[in-house]
Amino acid sequence: MKHNFGAGPCILPKEVFQEASQAVIEFNNTGLSILEISHRSKEFEQVVVEAEALVRELLNVPADYSVLFLQGGASQQFAMVPMNLLPEGGKAAYLDTGVWATKAAKEASKLGHVEIVASSSDKNYTYIPKDYSVPSDAAYFHFTSNNTIYGTEVFERPNVGIPVVSDMSSDIFSRVIDVSEYDLIYAGAQKNMGPAGVTLVIIKNELLGKSGRTIPAIFDYQAHAKAGSMYNTPPVYSIYVSMLNLRWLKAKGGVSVIEQENIVKARTLYEEIDRNTLFKGTADKDDRSRMNITFVMENPEQEAAFLELAKERGLVGIKGHRSVGGFRASVYNALTISSINALVDAMREFEENTV
Ligand code: PMP
Repeated sequence: MKHNFGAGPCILPKEVFQEASQAVIEFNNTGLSILEISHRSKEFEQVVVEAEALVRELLNVPADYSVLFLQGGASQQFAMVPMNLLPEGGKAAYLDTGVWATKAAKEASKLGHVEIVASSSDKNYTYIPKDYSVPSDAAYFHFTSNNTIYGTEVFERPNVGIPVVSDMSSDIFSRVIDVSEYDLIYAGAQKNMGPAGVTLVIIKNELLGKSGRTIPAIFDYQAHAKAGSMYNTPPVYSIYVSMLNLRWLKAKGGVSVIEQENIVKARTLYEEIDRNTLFKGTADKDDRSRMNITFVMENPEQEAAFLELAKERGLVGIKGHRSVGGFRASVYNALTISSINALVDAMREFEENTV
C-alpha cells in the first residue's frame, strides 16, 4: 500500500478511480467508452451539467457568476486574467508569494502595468505579507491563496477595495470560502478537483467582455460562458472524473466536513514536526498551509536516510520542491488520516533510531 503525498497530480479517492476506470470500458450502459462519445452527446451534456451544479452547490456559488471548465491549466489563466480584466494601458496589483504568483504577475506585465504590492521573496516565501496597500486605480488585485511549493496559505481574503482575483489551484474545495467576496477564482483541477487537463474558472458575470480589448475567442471568458464551456471540444474525461470526485465530496458531507478533516490532518502532522527535535517546519506558523506541509531536518545530512525510511514505509511524494529542499507532504482531500499517521510513525521511528 502506498501513501501518496504528491503535490499534484495527486491522490484521488479509490472509488473515483474505480468508477472512472469502468467508464473507460463502458460509460453509463451506452455500449461505448467515455473516451469515444461525442462531447455534444446528451450523455456528456449531463456530465457537464452535473459537474457545474456540484461546483455551484459545494462552493455555494452565487447565481450571477459563471462556472467554466477550460484547458491550459492555471498557467493559461495567468494570461487570460489580464487579457480579460486589464484594459489597454491599465494597471493590475499582484501579491508576490512565490513562483506561481511571480509567473502570474509576469504574464500580466506583458499586457499592462503590474504593481507588486508586497513580496515575501526576502525569506524564500516562508510567510504571507500582511501590511501593504493596493492602488485604488488598479483593475484588480491578484493573489495565490495557497502556495503549493512553500506551504503557506492565505485564510482570509485580503480586504483591498478593488476586484479580487485568486489562484486557488491547490486549496479549492479544501475549506469553506465565500465566493461572493471574489470577482474571479481559478484553479487547475489536479489537486482537489480531479485529474489534470481541466481548469475551473468562476467569474462574476459583470466582468465578462469588459476589458475593451480585442482578444481571440479561445481566450475570452465570455465566449466560453456563452457556449456553456463547449466553445470547443472540452477535456471530456477530465471533466467526467472531476464530476465523480465532486460527487464523492458531496457524499462525504461537502466542503465544511472535509475542512474539519483537513484541519485535524494538518494539525496532527504539524504537531509532530514541532515535537520531534530532528525536524522543523519551514513556513511561519501563522501562515502554515493545510494542504502542503513543508519541513526540513535540523541536520540536512539525515534527509536522505529519512527519505529512504519513508520509501520503505510506502510514503511517496514527500521530497520537497527543489527550490525549498527538505520535505513536502501534500495532504489533499482524498488523503486519509491513516496516511498522516503512517508518516508520523516514520518520523518517530527515525527519531528512536537516531537518539
Ligand atoms: N498555481 C498554483 C498555486 C499551482 O500549485 C500550480 C501548479 N502546481 C500552478 C498555478 C500551475 O498550474 P498548471 O500546471 O495547471 O498550469
